[in-house]
Amino acid sequence: MAAKDPLVIDGFASVQAVRRAGKNRKKPHYGQSRTTLPAADKKARTGTKAGPRAKIGHTVVPDIFEIVCYECGYTFNLRGRIQKTYCPKCRKTLVADEQIIESDWSGRVKTIGTVQVRNGGSLTKAHVVVGSLILDGRIEESTTKIGRRLELGSNASGDIAKIDTRDILIRADAKLSYRAKLRCENLIVEGDFRGTVEVSGLVTVMSGAFLQGRVKAARLLLHEGGGLKATVKIAGTK
Ligand SMILES: [Zn+2]
Repeated sequence: MAAKDPLVIDGFASVQAVRRAGKNRKKPHYGQSRTTLPAADKKARTGTKAGPRAKIGHTVVPDIFEIVCYECGYTFNLRGRIQKTYCPKCRKTLVADEQIIESDWSGRVKTIGTVQVRNGGSLTKAHVVVGSLILDGRIEESTTKIGRRLELGSNASGDIAKIDTRDILIRADAKLSYRAKLRCENLIVEGDFRGTVEVSGLVTVMSGAFLQGRVKAARLLLHEGGGLKATVKIAGTK
């Protein structure tokens, strides 16, 4: 596939392309899902004391979380909250530890939960396999595999480009400039990012966000109020 050369666009042409991308866009596929489902799950309640029928429609529906098995890569949904579970495919037990790192850390962690490296914290010679990583500190000489999403803050630095992640989010409060090329499946810009990105899926620039630099992606969605000053190459999916 992809025999044609990618279309190189800028300025007015890129705005046109953005409109097209917006019209044809598929549902963005990223991060931790907070999808609410219609209140249809009543089976579990049979057997308990019969509540008044009027309660229907007021049921609190639990959150649905997307989980990526760190043993086999299988993706599935978990209802309620992220907790210890097992993979429906490979049947391995998956732990859901959460970890906050505020100093220099060099251990090993494997979890479907989130590891957070705060400003002043760092990963050095660490081995990290996680659902999500929130990085607002430094990373170096580490191996990192992220099932869902890498979130970057203003203080993210070091070997970010070596992190193996599906999606990248530039956090809303972040103002980040990064030199090496970042690669991922989907990029969501909520803050201010300056750099070079190669995205196999969708780049989303949210309202109030700003993306500057070089962008190569299959699709690009620029929300109203979002800024883009970049060399843009939309390679397309066909
Ligand atoms: Zn598995």
